[in-house]
Amino acid sequence: APISASDLERLQVLGHGSGGTVYKVLHKPTSTPYALKQLHSPAADSSSDNNTLQSELDILRRTTGSPYVVHCHAIFEKPSGDVSVLMEYMDLGSLETLLKSQGPFSEEKLAPIARQVLEGLDYLHKTHKIVHRDIKPGNLLMNNKKEVKIADFGCSSDESCSSSVGTCAYMSPERFDPERYGGSHNGYACDIWSFGVTIMELYMGYFPLLPKGQRPDWASLMCAICFGEVPCLPEGASEDFRSFLECCMHKEASKRWTAAQLLTHPFVCKAPSEECKPNLFDKKRKRDDDGVERSERSQKSIKIEVC
Ligand code: ADP
Repeated sequence: APISASDLERLQVLGHGSGGTVYKVLHKPTSTPYALKQLHSPAADSSSDNNTLQSELDILRRTTGSPYVVHCHAIFEKPSGDVSVLMEYMDLGSLETLLKSQGPFSEEKLAPIARQVLEGLDYLHKTHKIVHRDIKPGNLLMNNKKEVKIADFGCSSDESCSSSVGTCAYMSPERFDPERYGGSHNGYACDIWSFGVTIMELYMGYFPLLPKGQRPDWASLMCAICFGEVPCLPEGASEDFRSFLECCMHKEASKRWTAAQLLTHPFVCKAPSEECKPNLFDKKRKRDDDGVERSERSQKSIKIEVC
């Protein structure tokens, strides 16, 4: 049955993002917790903000076919222009929060995380031709089943929103200097760079492109990303892990592996619950087909409610 906004009770604030505030809410009839993201309503005279919001909503409606993308259950649009998005509740929060509370992740913990994020990216890139543009620890959410899902499509169709220092830390070299590093890249590779930086940060415990403890400012970030060497993992990291990150973090976009290629890398293949067989490619394609079908079916279940 469709979920009605009047059946939801606000419990607590989960976080404040650039796009709005996220609340934990309870669906009273079923006692199910959800996350409700209240988006800032764009000013009536600002058409560009409204476009950004509408394309974020459009992406949310379309990307419901993957277990590796945070599921959107409903979108509530009020006549006032206020919009809120009802999502599945990810009870362990973001990988950024987990890094702060639990410290760095071991390779054994990172491999299944990396695999799930790559499945999500492969789905966005291949099935929907969507570049996320803001992959970072704060946008990867986890639940108590150790499922990891990609969240927050606020930047996916908007170039301009990556101007804040926090977000540009994960930006790829070709986004600063397309002529030098872009080549004939197709845009998807920027998510792979951000993914590589994210995985490295989760392992090292600090942002890997700057010296430990240095506060990121725009100039030093741009220098580190465009002119610095790609950082190396510390001693003790396995060869598989090193090679995996090298495949993600080529400065030149065209040399980076795709999400689908990275899914065949030994670092993620050896992760628990992955069956990495020679016919992986056929299997994956079958899963993609399923994904499309599911996505079309579940699209119908998203209710746009005017309340
Ligand atoms: P930002 O705009 O900062 O990238 P969001 O606005 O998407 O992030 O979310 C802000 C914070 O709220 C997240 O970092 C996360 O801790 C929390 N959050 C967002 N969505 C969910 C969810 N579905 N389940 C649980 N927590 C969430």
